Amino acid sequence: MRVLLALGGNAMTNAEGRARPEDQIAAADVAMDAVAGLLERDVEVVITHGNGPQVGNLLVKNEIAAAVVPPVPLDWCGAQTQATLGFILMNSLEAALARRGVERRTATVVTRALVAANDEGFTRPTKPIGRFLPAAEAAVLIEHGETWEDRGEKGWRRVVASPEPLRIVDAPAVQALVDAGFVVVANGGGGIPVIQDLDGTLHGVEAVIDKDLGAALLAQTVAADVLVIGTDVPHAVLRYGAPDAEPLGTVTVSQLRGFAAEGHFASGSMGPKVDAACRFVERGGARAVITDLAHITQAVTGDGGTVVVPDPTGG
Ligand code: ADP
Ligand code: MG
Repeated sequence: MRVLLALGGNAMTNAEGRARPEDQIAAADVAMDAVAGLLERDVEVVITHGNGPQVGNLLVKNEIAAAVVPPVPLDWCGAQTQATLGFILMNSLEAALARRGVERRTATVVTRALVAANDEGFTRPTKPIGRFLPAAEAAVLIEHGETWEDRGEKGWRRVVASPEPLRIVDAPAVQALVDAGFVVVANGGGGIPVIQDLDGTLHGVEAVIDKDLGAALLAQTVAADVLVIGTDVPHAVLRYGAPDAEPLGTVTVSQLRGFAAEGHFASGSMGPKVDAACRFVERGGARAVITDLAHITQAVTGDGGTVVVPDPTGG
């Protein structure tokens, strides 16, 4: 069985969302211990991860240091965080495997994802990133061509395009490593967004791909049997936060689409996870699971979390 495991921000920061290096390493140790447990059971695992807090930190450095070293574009931040997180995940995973006496090699692929140059996100950016700034500081960055929005009390915040990932450019490299038996970390942060010129040249663009939608595409690309979206809640929940909240167990993809249409899943958090899980199953995946790190093993054996299965066929 092949599993695509998508790790959320909480798998790379501490419970309060702090992302000091030691917090990130400690969180990676916990997540990779669970992955080593799966590998020990002969489950094949391909790993992807979010990078929101890490890119946020890089953006702050860019802003503060802009007068001394040139700021780097958002796609560079994506590449940098793929490399750094891949590095710490490999270290953690190899240590966990060694404790179990399991021999597997690991690799990280700096992964580009193709997006359409005419994606509507580029004309109407919607994805908020980085920290809030006072109007005067935001004005300087707006002069540099960035889009910032007035978010009221908290201040101004940068918004960028969040384009649809169309194709994982580096899929052949990922696939070759998987076929060679490597445990691969790939497409972190949803992939580095690139657009293609008429002559075929690829260029990075200042955008952020949704990590979960990138995970669904990667899962499909490597022909995973199961997509596991690891986050900080054990289930997707109906009427989340209300007294009559109801955690979802096994649901068909049509049922889950129906719940999503009723507005049960917040757009910046659970919404894209639900969408990613549905997409994967609609495109032929056997099962998608949304759960927390503590339930990864159960998620893979089919006994935990919110499990999304295909609609029954026939009638
Ligand atoms: P990650 O950082 O792991 O990618 P997010 O923080 O983006 O995850 O999304 C997970 C969060 O989604 C949960 O911590 C929860 O607060 C929130 N959430 C919003 N709506 C729901 C819902 N209907 N069911 C469960 N969690 C929800
Ligand atoms: Mg989170």
